[in-house]
Amino acid sequence: MIKLERNYTPILLTPSFVITQSAVFASTGEAVWNIEWLKESLLNIGLNKCCYCECDIKEESKYMEVEHFEDKNHYPSKVLDWENLLPSCKRCNGSKSNHDVIKYPIVNPFNIEPTKHLQFKLYRIRKKDVIGQNTIDAVNLNHIERAVNKRFEVGQGLEELIDTALERLKLYKENNLTVRRNKLLNIVEKTLKECQSNSIYSATCSTILHSNDDYQEIRDEMITLKLWDSTFENLHLLSKRLSLE
Ligand SMILES: [Zn+2]
Repeated sequence: MIKLERNYTPILLTPSFVITQSAVFASTGEAVWNIEWLKESLLNIGLNKCCYCECDIKEESKYMEVEHFEDKNHYPSKVLDWENLLPSCKRCNGSKSNHDVIKYPIVNPFNIEPTKHLQFKLYRIRKKDVIGQNTIDAVNLNHIERAVNKRFEVGQGLEELIDTALERLKLYKENNLTVRRNKLLNIVEKTLKECQSNSIYSATCSTILHSNDDYQEIRDEMITLKLWDSTFENLHLLSKRLSLE
């Protein structure tokens, strides 16, 4: 989970639309939030990922669900309140279900910095406090198959990229051939891009990257060799913010 920004409101979600459609929900129970433009807006602010588990919504669950942070059973007046709508995968939405976030607060990644409440250890998300524990339990963030195994798989992929980068660095140091330099730069760029906010499981990847000694060595050596430019440093710093260390 990473911090997300709710940086706009869909223009079609006007106050009168919200009032009339919320009344439709109250009287008929119709899923008035199931609208393409609303879902598109949520996908945009969620960077095309589930706001809780960071899976690729389109790939793993086939479609996005509109998650009501304050659930529609306890808080029916908020079914179309933009601030209350989050992009979620089917599985996280199903796990959270009617969990009452007012009685038992959890992290809303649009409002709270997840790193304040959650940390990462051995591919599991760990609590830092009660809000963190509530979040893990309500969203089922440590489900072995859909969450922990997936993080492990992605983490292994990243470790392999770092291993390859280290090998390429050694080859370049043996002989400063341009082709060797380019191969090194490419793999480092690829590694850093896996750890940016628009990549799936970016909190997992960032945490692994910034706790990896080989990565630190690669960065230090590349700085010495004047191969670590401002683009790399920027990507490095951006991913560091996502790390759940
Ligand atoms: Zn999810």
